[in-house]
Amino acid sequence: MEKKNLDWGNLGFEYQVTDKRYVSNYKNGAWDEGALVSDDTLVISEDAGVLHYSQSVFEGLKAYTTEDDHIVCFRPDMNAARMCDSAQRLEMPAFPQDRFVKAVEEVVKANAAWVPPFGTGASLYVRPVMFATGRVIGVKPANEYQFRIFVTPVGPYFKGGVKPIVVKISDFDRAAPRGTGHVKAGLNYAMSLHALEIAHHEGFAENIFLDAATHTKLEETGGANILLVDRSGNLVVPKSDSILPSITRRSIVDVAKNHLGMNVIEREVFLTEVDNGDFVECGLCGTAAVISPIGKINDHGKEICFESGMEEIGPVMKKLYDTLTGMQSGRIEAPAGWVHRIM
Ligand SMILES: *Cc1c(COP(=O)(O)O)cnc(C)c1O
Repeated sequence: MEKKNLDWGNLGFEYQVTDKRYVSNYKNGAWDEGALVSDDTLVISEDAGVLHYSQSVFEGLKAYTTEDDHIVCFRPDMNAARMCDSAQRLEMPAFPQDRFVKAVEEVVKANAAWVPPFGTGASLYVRPVMFATGRVIGVKPANEYQFRIFVTPVGPYFKGGVKPIVVKISDFDRAAPRGTGHVKAGLNYAMSLHALEIAHHEGFAENIFLDAATHTKLEETGGANILLVDRSGNLVVPKSDSILPSITRRSIVDVAKNHLGMNVIEREVFLTEVDNGDFVECGLCGTAAVISPIGKINDHGKEICFESGMEEIGPVMKKLYDTLTGMQSGRIEAPAGWVHRIM
């Protein structure tokens, strides 16, 4: 198949218009059959619910080329399920999970020429999004919605190798205890942008948000979950109802337990433990970077340095990273259903 003439090795993480997108509309209580369309723009009412009351949820996953030249994606059924959970929390109609996976396959196939070739480190980012198109002026859920999936080729997260980042403890809150932190909604991002701009201005890559009720426990960053390694070599994963259930994190926990025989502890993690130097490695995880090692955390001027991960990714994070990316690329056998073949 003829690929697009792109400089695959030098792609960034920017949107570019590709050939086809999948669109299905919800009206009169039902989703229509959906179709691939060419138009990357849409016309909605000035009174569309999404513009006023932010009924909008999204997902993110990647399609990529394997060594034996198949196009695959990673656990799309998990994205389908999570998008239903997100929709339900925002009083939006769920998009059927089997149709979600089929739509991902259709869009990726229709844009196969945009899927970066094997060995480039690049991938095709797949962005499902759903939002209220129906008119609302009084506060209530809209009665019309659009579900859309578009794709765009992106470069590797780390150019020139994985480098530990420096992050700060934020003075802002991300998610209330009984709020929407556990769903993938644009509204969680809107309010995190101010904190992110401040962090960037101060020279930090990201914010670590603490629990909003007590400001004593680690939650996550604006778009990635946190992983830690304690002095006994256990993988420690912060637990809270307001953390977004990252598919990468859940896959890493599974791999650590069942493939690497590691001890995994999912529990509340206190900032004082981090300050005390109880952890030797730390990292962020999500679809974009898989694992992004943290070298230092700045807690209001106090620098917490991770002994085994300051200059380069620490040994445990590296093993987890290598194993999960090995499964994604087919070098290591993955649990059944994780690597989903599209073509
Ligand atoms: C999407 C997201 C993640 C990462 O989830 P993955 O499924 O691993 O990509 C983590 N935290 C937040 C807040 C997110 O929105």
